[in-house]
Amino acid sequence: MGKYVYSFEEGNKSMKNLLGGKGANLAEMSQIGVPVPPGFTVTTEMCTKYYEDGKTISKDVEDEIFEHVRKLEQKIGKKFGDNKDPLLVSVRSGARISMPGMMDTVLNLGLNDEAVEGLATLTNNPRMAYDSYRRFLMMFSDVVLEINKTNFEKVFDECKKSAGVNEDTELTADHLKSLIPEYKAIVKREKNIDFPQDPAKQLMMAIEAVFGSWDNERAVIYRNLNEIPHDIGTAVNVQAMVFGNAGDTSGTGVAFTRNPATGENCMFGEYLMNAQGEDVVAGVRTPFPISHLEEENKEVYDEFIAISEKLENHYKDMQDMEFTIENGKLYFLQTRTGKRTAEAAVTIAVDMVEEGLIDKEEALMRVEPNQINQLLHPAFIKEELEKANVIAEGLPASPGAATGMAYFTSEAAAEANKDGKKVILVRAETSPEDIEGMVSAEGILTARGGMTSHAAVVARGMGKCCVAGCGEIKVDEDAKKFVIGELVVEEGAFVSLDGSTGKVYLGEIKTQAPELSGKFAKIMEWADEIRTLNVRTNADTPRDAKQAVEFGAEGIGLCRTEHMFFEGERIFNFRQMIVAKSKEDREKALEKLFPYQKDDFVGIYKAMETRPVTVRLLDPPLHEFLPHKDEEIKEVADALNLTFDELKATVEDLKEFNPMLGHRGCRLGVTYPEIYGMQVRAIITAAIEVSKETNVNVVPEIMIPLVGHKNEMERMRQLVVDTADAVIKNNGIDLEYKVGTMIEIPRAAVTANEVAEYAEFFSFGTNDLTQMTFGFSRDDAGRFIADYKDQGLFEKDPFQAIDQDGVGALMKMAVKLGKETRPDIKLGICGEHGGEPSSIEFCHRIGLNYVSCSPFRVPIARLAAARAVIINK
Ligand code: PEP
Ligand code: MG
Repeated sequence: MGKYVYSFEEGNKSMKNLLGGKGANLAEMSQIGVPVPPGFTVTTEMCTKYYEDGKTISKDVEDEIFEHVRKLEQKIGKKFGDNKDPLLVSVRSGARISMPGMMDTVLNLGLNDEAVEGLATLTNNPRMAYDSYRRFLMMFSDVVLEINKTNFEKVFDECKKSAGVNEDTELTADHLKSLIPEYKAIVKREKNIDFPQDPAKQLMMAIEAVFGSWDNERAVIYRNLNEIPHDIGTAVNVQAMVFGNAGDTSGTGVAFTRNPATGENCMFGEYLMNAQGEDVVAGVRTPFPISHLEEENKEVYDEFIAISEKLENHYKDMQDMEFTIENGKLYFLQTRTGKRTAEAAVTIAVDMVEEGLIDKEEALMRVEPNQINQLLHPAFIKEELEKANVIAEGLPASPGAATGMAYFTSEAAAEANKDGKKVILVRAETSPEDIEGMVSAEGILTARGGMTSHAAVVARGMGKCCVAGCGEIKVDEDAKKFVIGELVVEEGAFVSLDGSTGKVYLGEIKTQAPELSGKFAKIMEWADEIRTLNVRTNADTPRDAKQAVEFGAEGIGLCRTEHMFFEGERIFNFRQMIVAKSKEDREKALEKLFPYQKDDFVGIYKAMETRPVTVRLLDPPLHEFLPHKDEEIKEVADALNLTFDELKATVEDLKEFNPMLGHRGCRLGVTYPEIYGMQVRAIITAAIEVSKETNVNVVPEIMIPLVGHKNEMERMRQLVVDTADAVIKNNGIDLEYKVGTMIEIPRAAVTANEVAEYAEFFSFGTNDLTQMTFGFSRDDAGRFIADYKDQGLFEKDPFQAIDQDGVGALMKMAVKLGKETRPDIKLGICGEHGGEPSSIEFCHRIGLNYVSCSPFRVPIARLAAARAVIINK
């Protein structure tokens, strides 16, 4: 038979898998001389065995448990089950990862009708004895017998009422004693059993209840949500009781070695005198701040501070501790790594390096990349948020907090913003025409669309808060309102959005701006020292480019040129270009677009200075740009000397069944080479202008989208080279440029050796690559991927984190094949995954040169890239 029970002296902190987090830390504390009441741990292996054996604990293991009870008796000098001087214990669960939802704690186990009398006599403290017994009856009934706690609380409150007292501590021994028969009657009534009086039976029932709680519904849901395996089991800790409720020189509390909200290096905690465990957290009485203990009992306070410091130095991290004082003697009951906000994580990590506790690499591992997202965007003021009213929930498409008045069209939003109003743009879904409204808005709310929908991608690019795909809301643009069930929200009403949680609130919630200097900058500096991946940004405007440079972007990995045609007149000219019937008409429209394009590139090159800029030639799903409304069709028809009906027919003609798989990307370049011709002229002309003006040699990287076959690439390259060289020659100047492609079609990945003959660089377009590898439409998948996650088919949404086994395998293949043809080929990624930490780690592993992401994710990517180096050491 194996060993299933360990006394605290037999364990240490490295044994978390076997003893659970709590057990391993109790053992470690015992080892390093922290005063911990003695005890033992029944292992996680026993939990697994319990299930294998049909939910039973064998006689052998029961004997092993009681051998440890005997050892405990010797250490304490009391006997378990003794009626005069009983040994009492606490029983607590403790998995490898702490898990709310499981059975937590039973205190004072070992008491019964007789032992309580013995305890009262022996301690000469009947109040403490009956207080302990009534607590035990309630806790055991709640967590072991599964009788709802409110049954007991009601009786307790009535007792306080009839005694005419407010505080629990004002109840006398007699009051508490009178509760005992009433509590036992509840057990009889609810479960038709007598409350178990035999301590040995109580102990075995409690241990089984802990193991049983591993599989209760709440625990299973929690594990699914947090990706915790279901087969690792929980341990059970049995520990000699110390009594915080033994009178005025006793107490109990919880404390953090540093402030978990701000990270400030100062003890943060609360305690209550004459109380037990849950009183502090349950809020029945208002606890004192820990500093107050110094006045109350300086000796205990000093010892407490000294041990806390010792623990923090030992674990080299902020600790979250539980302690009890029994008649002036201090005990520690738990220590663990404390949970903290993003701000605290950054502050603590940097401070600890400066204090010499940890090194820089460890500091980087202490800050979760996704967590720092909170620091890069405005956030709601916490107290204000607590008072707010959630009315709906959608996808957390672009983080940040936004508050403003609801407007339902781009024009209305822009108009209201001009009048100085803060605006939230609410749309069924957004399209390129909404760009002005999106720019004017604090945040964007859409009823339809997934994480890579137009609204989501554009909002992330702008660093604007966006909640997308909020199916509960029905948007009625004409009636200027949206409806959720009975609730009607009219134009001008305040709504607030949390783009990090997807929550929508009614009313105004105040926000606060992010602070990016100081310790945050330090973490970024350390990340930059060790990362090998470059971090670029996806930016389409000089403004976004500047913002990204401020966040540390080292280049532009994707400038989506179709996004440059959204505003004002441009979209009008662009539409003329799309619906043009002849090459001549198209060229006319293109000529009007040329100056805009060129000036935008000039702005972007200037903003990026010496940093590389990859410009992607046009790749719009055409339907995004078509005029839809009659007045829009009329306007374009007039400009083109067409009748309304003629143009309407053309628009109908251009509609595609599957625009995402339709006439877009280089397919447009094949049909209408003049479009790409104009763009290349603009890219090169701008580069020449800026090179002359600033003396910086701009080296444009021209990228062809949606290539699947080497012949497409060959043709497009030729077009680019012919056009670019002609412009260069005309200007009588030397200018270097590069031509490369997106790898976003599975066929391109599989034939990457052929494609690389014509491409100097590859940039993985993992949005389309995911769409086409799974065959999931990127605009519609949001509707059903949630079901896949809920049902455990997918751990993560593949549009958010790279599916490493499938999409990732294609990427690896493309890297290998691309390098076979062109060993020095430059490799990057510019799909949304380029800003997601687990995907960045994958990109590091497969040897990409850079990742490219929206400006606001640049710091996250820098940190994730540094952690990738550390993880793969
Ligand atoms: C991609 O497909 O990953 C990509 C970056 O291109 P887009 O999102 O513009 O299709
Ligand atoms: Mg794409």
